[in-house]
Formats: sequence, C-alpha cells, structure tokens
Amino acid sequence: MQGKTHIVGGAAAAILAAQLMDMPDAPIVGVTGALGAIIPDICHGGSKIGRRLPLLSKITNLLFGHRTFTHSLLFLLIVCCIGFYNVSPERLHLFKGFVIGIGSHLLLDAATKNGIAFFYPLKRKIRLPFTISTGSVIEYLIFSALTIIIVCYGWKYFGL
Ligand SMILES: [Zn+2]
Repeated sequence: MQGKTHIVGGAAAAILAAQLMDMPDAPIVGVTGALGAIIPDICHGGSKIGRRLPLLSKITNLLFGHRTFTHSLLFLLIVCCIGFYNVSPERLHLFKGFVIGIGSHLLLDAATKNGIAFFYPLKRKIRLPFTISTGSVIEYLIFSALTIIIVCYGWKYFGL
C-alpha cells in the first residue's frame, strides 16, 4: 500500500476506535493513528518515514528486511509493552490511537499480494483471502472511502 493510504487508514481506524471506545480528544487520537500507521515502513528506505530517517531505515532493513519484524505481531507487542509502561494514564488514549494506526498498517499490507511476516521470526508471509495491487484502482477506492470517513467525522465533530 502507498503511504497516503496507510496515513488515512491509520487516522480513520483510530477515529472510529475513539468513537467506539468513547475516548477523549478523538481528532488527536486520529493524528496519533496516522503517525502509527507510517511507523512499520521504517524498514523501507523509499517510504515516507524511511526517507525522513534514512540511517534508522537502512539499519532496520539490513537487520530484518522488508515487511518482516516491523510488520509483525512481535513488533506490535513490543510497542505496546514499551508504551503502556511509559505513557501516563492521561495520555494513554493517544497511545492507543498510535497502536491502532500500526495495526491498520499491518491489516492493509496483509491485503496486498506480498503479504506480511505477521508471525516473525517465522518467515511465512500472511495475506488476507483477497488481495489488491499497490497503486491499483481498488487501492484508490479504499483511500477514497477512508478519506470520506475522516471528512464525515470532522464534519460531525466540528459541526461544519
Ligand atoms: Zn508496510
């Protein structure tokens, strides 16, 4: 998936979760979701975060490869453990949005033909029963639907 699809996917997932779980600051939770959604692609030098942090991206790619560790359940659990022990209770909802953003990234990449090594260090790639090609019309439709969710939420939240 393209970076922009991950960003709107993370934001939409976090906003929906914030509403379902009655979290405060839902728009900011959406922003943390968008941030979380770009983190897993640190293993790819051409990604949005990889271009911003080239050294960390290169090291991560050399150590693990693409769509392995940073796209795994293990990575998600490590991030959760670090965050839940270090984030203050008043900010925990923002961290939850961040984790949901990471989860949305994994789900969207699992919907691609290459899949993800979700159970890393096991190397077997996991993909959803239906897959789409990156940059395809279907991805643009998904991007558009996710964007509409965010816009509708903003309309409702800010009373526009
Ligand atoms: Zn990815």
